[in-house]
Amino acid sequence: MIRQYELVERVKEYDPNIDENMLNRAYVFSMKVHGKQVRASGDAYFSHPLEVAGILTNMKMDCDTIVTALLHDTIEDTIATHEQIEELFGADVAKMVDGVTKLSELTYSSESAKQADNFRKFLLAMSHDIRVLLVKLADRLHNMRTLHHIKKPEKRIRIARETLDIYAPLAERIGMQEIKEELEALAFPHVYPEAYESITKRMKQIHASTDGIKDLVISELERLLAEAGIEAEVFGREKRFYSIWRKMTYRHVSLADQADIIAFRIIVDDAETCYRALGVVHGIWQAIPDLIKDYISMPKPNGYQSIHTTVIGPRKKRIEIQIRSSAMDAIAEKGVAAHWLYKQHSSDQEGEQYKWLKDLLEIMEHADGPDEFLEHTKLAMYQNQVFCFTPKGQLVNLPQGATVVDFAYAVHTDVGDSCVGGKVNGNPVPLRSRLGNGDQVEILRSKAQQPSPNWLGFVITGKAKAAIRRFISHKKKDEYQMLGKTLLERAFQIEERELNNKALEICVKNLQLQSIQEVYELVGKGELADRKVLETIYPGIKLNGEHSMLPAKMVDQSSKRVGGDSIPIKGLTPGLAVHMSDCCHPIMGDRIVGIVTTGKGIMVHTIDCESLDVYSDTPEAWLDLSWFPLEDENSIFVSRIELLLQHLPGALASVLTVIAQEKGNISNIKFIERAPELFRIALDIEVRDVKHLTSIIAALRVSESVSSVERAFR
Ligand code: MN
Repeated sequence: MIRQYELVERVKEYDPNIDENMLNRAYVFSMKVHGKQVRASGDAYFSHPLEVAGILTNMKMDCDTIVTALLHDTIEDTIATHEQIEELFGADVAKMVDGVTKLSELTYSSESAKQADNFRKFLLAMSHDIRVLLVKLADRLHNMRTLHHIKKPEKRIRIARETLDIYAPLAERIGMQEIKEELEALAFPHVYPEAYESITKRMKQIHASTDGIKDLVISELERLLAEAGIEAEVFGREKRFYSIWRKMTYRHVSLADQADIIAFRIIVDDAETCYRALGVVHGIWQAIPDLIKDYISMPKPNGYQSIHTTVIGPRKKRIEIQIRSSAMDAIAEKGVAAHWLYKQHSSDQEGEQYKWLKDLLEIMEHADGPDEFLEHTKLAMYQNQVFCFTPKGQLVNLPQGATVVDFAYAVHTDVGDSCVGGKVNGNPVPLRSRLGNGDQVEILRSKAQQPSPNWLGFVITGKAKAAIRRFISHKKKDEYQMLGKTLLERAFQIEERELNNKALEICVKNLQLQSIQEVYELVGKGELADRKVLETIYPGIKLNGEHSMLPAKMVDQSSKRVGGDSIPIKGLTPGLAVHMSDCCHPIMGDRIVGIVTTGKGIMVHTIDCESLDVYSDTPEAWLDLSWFPLEDENSIFVSRIELLLQHLPGALASVLTVIAQEKGNISNIKFIERAPELFRIALDIEVRDVKHLTSIIAALRVSESVSSVERAFR
């Protein structure tokens, strides 16, 4: 176990200005709160955060990161609280410890490649600060180093697979080759034991057959480089088993054909010397043209720089040689951490914590292709997204501000079309609720449900919008056709003609329409008058009844419409020729019916409106309607009340004041009757709904000058 003073020494070695006191306090605090907890290995639990801190000192991370490593399991596993850590170690450390805790709570279960990719982005989004991710990677690395202590094989395999799918690629993304390779090497035998065994065996044979090549190449290169006056270090390293195996499985390259089973590396002082060294290499061995890659002039998105070349080496064996400067080598192995280090110790000593991240972003910005850039960089990019889970653990990636309905459509169009509600983390929520990162979302569905136009007011994803619009336009069409058919049936009935397909075909032909359905639709929309249909089919007909001269739509526009474009009535789609009747002034919350009226579309009446008597023997004209729960708070309905007032000075003014106090707006006043002591007036008031009107009437009733007040339906 690393001793307290050792840890401090290690950090001091690369950062003499470290807050020694804070480091010591974190060491003691963590040891104390982890107390007698033990790990699967039987070691004291505290050895784990300490080792994680040790790994991060190898990466030469800053003091806050080392302290975070020491504390990273305290909130989750001990009695320590966020507040306590904030008080003792400051807000920055507390926030980072929180971040690591959150990452640890996420579990990845799916095995699909797309899901793994999403999950990696999710981790990046959740990290906010890349140092949080580095602590998490170091945490995973130590857990992998001690994985063999875990008894249950399923658990070992799960952790190892997660490491291969998620953490090793993440390490690669941020350029940490060393950690990536170690994670893979540790996980490989657990996830693919057979493959591991056979590769181990084959590699032994290959090494036997290429025995001596490694030393031969190294000494040859050293000699020639020295002759050319180039100072260089030359290494040869066996390639990692896991990457050999991956190449075999994904790129179908056989073991024998892998040129880079031993990778040679030439490390020189600077970029310019790299090219000179390349010249030396190509001077002795023939290069394979397609396999020369210059990542110095074109760095990889994660900042990696190097020249790769494959040549026909001694004994006609293909060998791969990488040439890079020592700075490039450090970045290749340690990624962001090394980059930070180099910058930190160069000319400017601003000590800006995030400078290295900015630098990293700069490199990446110059990388090829926007996709790559997105993939590899800016944590900030992921801040505009939310990642949610289905109950089965599938990840769904949505833009920030997405709602339950967006989620439903993202899962499947059918799910969106039939969603009636949702549960977020087990709690029922309205469809318009916005989702947060990591929410688990369950969609409640009903066969009876249909997408509502109101949804367009809050969904934000293109997929949801398109699906809802498509559905509505289909549905509108259906409704226009139904309405048009009803209108024509009535018109024909009045003229005592039979409405049949044969008659309608004449109309289709003469008006050059596509189908009978189109006739219905145009009539329903009010673009074709019923009268015109009759005249087309029966030229010269003398019409008995009254038919609309104008298309229904024009009538609709000239009549008074309230509530704006979206009349919130269930069973209808906005845009139909629907309006509130002038006789009873239905308002939100009234019990209502619709009457299909020739040439006027649908008139909405209150259920007890006197004018409904006229329709008592035409039941087919009646539509059963009800109100949608009001989504739009700006809806206004005009309602009429009648008052009997005492003829006192200021009586009318007091009535108007009461109505204003109740936030009713008077749109019209009419005197009905005047008597010496009393007078009767009718008021048209704009209200939100029945409840609003009731409260106004109640307020008027207690007013001194008001003898009686009633809602008027005529
Ligand atoms: Mn841990």
